[in-house]
Amino acid sequence: MARREFTPMVYAQIVHRASNAQGRLTCEGCGLVLGRKAYHVDHTKPDGLEVDKTRKLTAEDGKVLGVECCHKPKTKTDVAQIAEAKRREAKHLGMTTRQPSRFPGSKASGLKKTIDGRVIDRATGEEIRR
Ligand SMILES: [Zn+2]
Repeated sequence: MARREFTPMVYAQIVHRASNAQGRLTCEGCGLVLGRKAYHVDHTKPDGLEVDKTRKLTAEDGKVLGVECCHKPKTKTDVAQIAEAKRREAKHLGMTTRQPSRFPGSKASGLKKTIDGRVIDRATGEEIRR
C-alpha cells in the first residue's frame, strides 16, 4: 500500500503545535528554531513499520523536523529499522539468505588443516589430501 500522507488540516495542526510563542517554527526533534530553514513533517513512526495502514493519520503521527538537524539523520535510522524488521520477519518465516562462512580453514568449512599441512574432515576425522 502507498505511503499515507497527512491531510492539509492535520499538517497545519502539526505546524501550529511546533511553533513557539513568537510564532517561529521549531524543530520538534531538537528544539532548534527553524525560522526559514527547511523542515519536513515526519512520520513519527516510520510508515513501513505501521501495521494498520487504514487508520487515518492524526497530528500525533507526525512532527516537524529540521531537514539539516534531525530529518536527514532520522531517515537513515528509519531505513535501518525497516530493513531489520524485514530481516526478522523473513527469519520468522524460515527464509534465510545468509550462508555459513566457507572461508577455507574456518570451522564452518568443515575442514581442519594441521600444522604439518594435512587437511582433515572435521566430521569424520579423515584426511582429505596431502
Ligand atoms: Zn532538529
